[in-house]
Amino acid sequence: MSNTRDDFTQATKRMLSDRVNGICSAPTCNKSTKGPSGSSTDAMVSIGVAAHICAATEGGPRYDPTMSQETRKSIDNGIWLCCNHARMIDVDPEFYTVQRLQKWKIDAEKRAAARLNLKPIPSRKVVVSINDLQRLNYFSGIYSSQFLDDLKTERFRAKVPNSLIDTLTIAHDKRDDPKLEFVNEELEQMRQELISAIEAFMDHFKQQSGGNKESYDYIDLNEIRRKYPQSVDKFADMIDKTRELAIEVGNAAVKFEKFSSHLCNLKGQTDTKLLVNYPY
Ligand SMILES: [Zn+2]
Repeated sequence: MSNTRDDFTQATKRMLSDRVNGICSAPTCNKSTKGPSGSSTDAMVSIGVAAHICAATEGGPRYDPTMSQETRKSIDNGIWLCCNHARMIDVDPEFYTVQRLQKWKIDAEKRAAARLNLKPIPSRKVVVSINDLQRLNYFSGIYSSQFLDDLKTERFRAKVPNSLIDTLTIAHDKRDDPKLEFVNEELEQMRQELISAIEAFMDHFKQQSGGNKESYDYIDLNEIRRKYPQSVDKFADMIDKTRELAIEVGNAAVKFEKFSSHLCNLKGQTDTKLLVNYPY
């Protein structure tokens, strides 16, 4: 019986953080965990945690008694998370399994590697008609940053708020509405991508959901754990997939807002067209 904590060294913590650029490794989070201190010009603040995949002490979440002390405090047993996610994985270790966290870590490091290879993007000019601009406003209105945040942080467990699903249902119903078709090919391409993402989400979501007054009933893992323990993994994977598809909807929808943010008025022209300095 050991009652020691197999903590990471400072060097291991720093390396865990650096390998993901200080960004939380939870797939739906992307929160930056480090920044300048507001009170001093030579200090920083961190809301990041070098979390243990298998707990550092006996009895802790995902503790593995067969693991050597050496491995337990090694970088392979760590994952960089924001403080919210560090807490979340420890209060619900049955859902946040070792395999799940290892996958988070691999994927987060892949995302960090991809960011490292990004080149600065030159911009070009795109002209948008006033009618397309109205459609653009319509889309950036529906997919507000609040909605996109809610979509990104939704856990898709027993209850899912109507506000999320109803917005997507309306968009799904209006997918063939000619009034919403863009003349600009690039914008129309964005709309098509969004429609495909919403279709994929709805097809998957409707398999397990039932509409209700205040919220949609969805996969209740606690109940499944009680009644059909052998199916927990299957349903946990379905929830993961739902979240992934929701993130894809968000990624497609946020493009309208990004496009809008590059708009500027075309000088010396009538007000029928607007100019966009848009990245290639
Ligand atoms: Zn996080």
